[in-house]
Amino acid sequence: MNKHFDVVIVGAGAAGLMCAMEAGRRSRRVLVLEKADRAGRKIRISGGGKSNFTNLYVSADNYLSHNPHFCKSALARYTPWDFMGLMSRHGLTWEEREHGQLFCEQGATAIVDMLLQECTQAGVELSYDSEISYLKKQEYFELQTMQGAYTCASLVVATGGPSIPRMGSTDFGVQVAKQFGLKSIPFKPALVPFTFPSGFLKDLAGISLEAEVSCNGTAFREQLLITHRGLSGPVILQISSYWNKGDAIVIDLLPGMDAADWLKAEQGARPSVLLKTVLAEKLPRRLAQALCERLFTDQPLQQFQQKKLDEIGATLNGWRLFPAGTEGMRTAEVATGGVDTNELSSRTLEAKKQPGLYFIGETVDVTGQLGGYNFQWAWASGWCAGQFV
Ligand SMILES: Cc1cc2nc3c(=O)[nH]c(=O)nc-3n(C[C@H](O)[C@H](O)[C@H](O)COP(=O)(O)OP(=O)(O)OC[C@H]3O[C@@H](n4cnc5c(N)ncnc54)[C@H](O)[C@@H]3O)c2cc1C
Repeated sequence: MNKHFDVVIVGAGAAGLMCAMEAGRRSRRVLVLEKADRAGRKIRISGGGKSNFTNLYVSADNYLSHNPHFCKSALARYTPWDFMGLMSRHGLTWEEREHGQLFCEQGATAIVDMLLQECTQAGVELSYDSEISYLKKQEYFELQTMQGAYTCASLVVATGGPSIPRMGSTDFGVQVAKQFGLKSIPFKPALVPFTFPSGFLKDLAGISLEAEVSCNGTAFREQLLITHRGLSGPVILQISSYWNKGDAIVIDLLPGMDAADWLKAEQGARPSVLLKTVLAEKLPRRLAQALCERLFTDQPLQQFQQKKLDEIGATLNGWRLFPAGTEGMRTAEVATGGVDTNELSSRTLEAKKQPGLYFIGETVDVTGQLGGYNFQWAWASGWCAGQFV
């Protein structure tokens, strides 16, 4: 015998829980089906355990999507202040870090507990270890899991993206979209470190510096970290979302200054000083030395012609590198791509061609930059769908 619900939500992550509590508050009979044995696994590990749950400066410019306007409606209707209000009502507090990033002072698990408490108060039922083995639409949506068989009028797909597969992440969302004839954009790892041919940067692992990195017309200025596999750090994670295989990235190792002008001034002031000594005053010493050995010549500044200093300066302000690839879904924080936004209403998140079917959160082709934007999209899209299911 099928159990009937007004709303079944697949996925008890950030978007699914938000949608569930909102729908439950509207007195809808709601069931959440979660494949894992507990809710909100990605929330629990986010932000180093403190969850960067939103950002004070959220705007559509912080998101990648084939339709950059799609996210505007949801982001305008459920703002970071709405989520902060919810947290305040639960006695949760936050700490603001650079670039408007907010972290939960009570820890990431406190956010999951808050969402689960809201769901309980709203009468939402949750079923864990519930993977869907059968899905069909007749008069209602019909679903089967190991735990039971269900029918519902509204089906919400909130299964996130495929990054970090060891956490049970799946591409279930795009599979459901395909089943109902909706288009998707292929998922691609994002917010992910770059890999380089073995040995290229290996002995420089551990070096960290502030740099500006650009690719395909987008640039970020934050910390860069050289790892034993390649490049990482916030600036690299950010730019990785804009990178495609074969693209170069351009690294400004001395952002905010004209390196050639600086070197020429130093040549006039200290002609007998070695290039590596001068570079080590602005860059980590090991990096300065490696650049002199691998890209430049290490000699006293007076021995460089002006043209050569122009070339060295151009490299320091625009070092072009071709990553071999990324670390892939294994370590990617999110994935770009997902259900094509053209298939969905930006107000309700409902599929235009399939009434009653909704897609929210990372399953949709809306991907945030690093800094709390992904959770804000999950809260906002979940909240919006929760008003209509
Ligand atoms: C290590 C890490 C750190 C992060 N830190 C931050 C951060 O600090 N700030 C930020 O904004 N973003 C962060 N993110 C990104 C953020 O976690 C995601 O963008 C966000 O969780 C997406 O929410 P969602 O509800 O769409 O998906 P998820 O939160 O991933 O939830 C999807 C749920 O669906 C379940 N599921 C999957 N397939 C099925 C299925 N077939 N049947 C039933 N259930 C299924 C999953 O188990 C999961 O519980 C981080 C991601 C990672 C991996």
